[in-house]
Amino acid sequence: MPMSKGNIFVVVAPSGAGKTTLVLALLAAEPQVQLSVSYTTRAPREGEVEGRDYHFVSRDAFLAMINHGDFLEHAEVHGNFYGTSQSWINDALATGRDILLEIDWQGAQQVRRHFPEAIGIFILPPSAEVLEQRLRGRGKDSEEAIARRLKNAREEISHIDEADYVIVNEHIDEAVRDIIGIVRAERLRLTRQSVRHGDLIAQLKGA
Ligand code: 5GP
Repeated sequence: MPMSKGNIFVVVAPSGAGKTTLVLALLAAEPQVQLSVSYTTRAPREGEVEGRDYHFVSRDAFLAMINHGDFLEHAEVHGNFYGTSQSWINDALATGRDILLEIDWQGAQQVRRHFPEAIGIFILPPSAEVLEQRLRGRGKDSEEAIARRLKNAREEISHIDEADYVIVNEHIDEAVRDIIGIVRAERLRLTRQSVRHGDLIAQLKGA
């Protein structure tokens, strides 16, 4: 496959790191970046919109999609299935824009197997205390649910070494600047610019 003009960014974070806020701010600032909307078997949360936050599907529909080879990657997270559409990725890559996947470490590993050039960005909370506060801060959940989330967060963080970049999300404005900086710098790499501006470079070399 010829090299795409766009990059694939894989953003991984424990829940409670503030990943969604950060990604939304990036998307607002950088319209060149397209967010992949995952498929999931989990029920929509209040305020979530079909097709914007997720494609919400039944377990049977999800299993059928696995059998059809419809997913670039898929994983079971917290008892629900999540997956990234292969055809959406193919179409998005063809447009030449950057793609951003907000997925867990298992999915990130699968994406890297297909696209070794994918860029991994890991988002960390500023401290263990803040992480716990944020996991509790969501409200009405049982101690058991919070303990499970903390355990999952630790598991996610144990895969930090697989990332290329790490952002500590202490001050959201600074973290937003960090993620924008990563996206812009990766876009300016010689390998990408040679694809994007091959004609210009050839012309200038020959001048
Ligand atoms: P939530 O249910 O809170 O939206 O997401 C739970 C976890 O599933 C998060 O860690 C999120 O990154 C992950 N996730 C969301 N979409 C996908 C996906 O398409 N594939 C994989 N592997 N993980 C996903």
